[in-house]
Amino acid sequence: MYNKGFDSSKRDFIRKCLLVSAGMTCMPRSAIINGIRPQDQNIYRKLALFQEETPRGIMCRICPNECVLREGEVSKCNNRRVNDSKLYTMAFGNPCSVNIDPIEKKPLYHFFPGSRAFSIATAGCNLVCLNCQNWTISQTSPDKTRNYDLMPDKVVSEAVKSQCRSIAYTYSEPMTFYEYTYESAILARKAGVRNIVKSNGYINPEPLKKLCSVIDAANIDLKSFNESTYLKLTGGKLLPVLDSLKIYKDMGVWLEITNLVVPGWTDNIDEISKMCKWLNRKCSR
Ligand code: SF4
Repeated sequence: MYNKGFDSSKRDFIRKCLLVSAGMTCMPRSAIINGIRPQDQNIYRKLALFQEETPRGIMCRICPNECVLREGEVSKCNNRRVNDSKLYTMAFGNPCSVNIDPIEKKPLYHFFPGSRAFSIATAGCNLVCLNCQNWTISQTSPDKTRNYDLMPDKVVSEAVKSQCRSIAYTYSEPMTFYEYTYESAILARKAGVRNIVKSNGYINPEPLKKLCSVIDAANIDLKSFNESTYLKLTGGKLLPVLDSLKIYKDMGVWLEITNLVVPGWTDNIDEISKMCKWLNRKCSR
């Protein structure tokens, strides 16, 4: 019995690894999903949420970068621009990556294990991590990628058609395609499909609380537990990420955390120990 069980879980493990690696190798900019192809297209623009007029220009209050932009300028995350004194997102309905992934690839290990997640990303990110694996889409703009034509209602219908139990907003940084994530998530909830974010947690409290009302699970990257390493490695600050973790937890979103150990950067055992103690105090039940 033991051997049989062992063989079966070993087979299961290998099967899942193959699924994950297949997903990784086909993280596409040109794959065909459910017959939908990426195409060169005009970029649809949508009025951005959380914008505010200031004497220096239009401020975006979505993330702690709080970009202030003048006419024609593009945001730090490469997907917001000011036109006619209003801030628009260029990251709406035009994902450059669309995939059907095993949920373990997000990675989420305790949220509908074994299920599939309809996974989307647009170009752009609010951090500039030196070790970014997806830099070809995170450090560019939606008008420089080949994109799928996929408005929120289509995202949901494709997820249902593909028998995915969830939609994952992932690969680049969903907080920078906030409006697309939010509107898709509302429709997904109505269709009984769960919503997952894979995020760097770099978002201000107010937009995060609004988003949490429609998000079921999150995997957040806690990239270091040292303020100065955070800044050098990612261009962002540690404290806003810690605040975000507490908000996800307080608002009842299923939370899993990724801490990537980068030799020479984030492998200090004392810092890892401090991080674990903090997580145990603030983010465990
Ligand atoms: S989401 Fe983008 S535009 Fe808004 S503050 Fe962050 S980096 Fe700037």
